Order: sequence, then structure tokens, then C-alpha cells
Amino acid sequence: MNDDSGYERRTTHAPATDDRFPVSLRGVAVGSETRCAHWNSELDVVALRFGCCEAFAPCHACHAETADHDPEPWPQDRFDDPAVLCGVCRTTLSARTYLDGTDACPRCGAEFNPGCRRHRDRYFEP
Ligand SMILES: [Zn+2]
Ligand SMILES: [Zn+2]
Ligand SMILES: [Zn+2]
Repeated sequence: MNDDSGYERRTTHAPATDDRFPVSLRGVAVGSETRCAHWNSELDVVALRFGCCEAFAPCHACHAETADHDPEPWPQDRFDDPAVLCGVCRTTLSARTYLDGTDACPRCGAEFNPGCRRHRDRYFEP
């Protein structure tokens, strides 16, 4: 495995979940701060929750490759429930806190990739 950071990378397929995290999470080559095979920059440290299975994944492609069903975005009527995981401090944020916030974790200050919110329609019900 090609991994500069020295952290273990783990791929988890449904129905299993990655037991390193406090929430149900699965993805492809996931690092300890939820970077994945598809998004691996300094800033790629969030995992997003899906409405279909209520599991978190680092990105859409991770869900597509590790779940056994089509994705559904996080539903509008549950925007106050935890729907985003900060991979650095492992706090969960509500969809509303994430979408209304700055591109940083309100608890630990880790910077988030602003590109994620540009794809928000894929993750959060518009
Ligand atoms: Zn799903
Ligand atoms: Zn991914
Ligand atoms: Zn954090």
C-alpha cells in the first residue's frame, strides 16, 4: 500500500463498518482522518452521512464502491441530526452546522475542503 503518512489504510464493504470510528463508516483505502482513495489532500478530513443506509463515507465514490445500493442524500427533515464527521477530532456535526458554517471544524479548527460543499446536492437533500 502506498501511504506516505504511515497510517493504516482500510477498505470496508457493507455490511461491515470500519471500527476505528465512533460512527458507522465505510470507504476505500480510508486513513485515520477519513481521507480516502479518491480525496486525499490535507483538507479532506470529513465523512458524510447518507440517507439510504445512515452510514458515513468519505465521499460519494466510496459509497458507490462499498455499499450494495444506490445513494440517497441526507434528508432535509433531519438536518439537525449528526450527518458530518470531522476525521481529525471525530466530532459529528449536524448537516445544518456544516452547511451554515465556515470551512473548518467548529470544535478542533481543522480546515475542511471547500470543494465538498460545492457538491452539496449529492450529499444533502436540496
Ligand atoms: Zn447508503
Ligand atoms: Zn472516497
Ligand atoms: Zn474537528
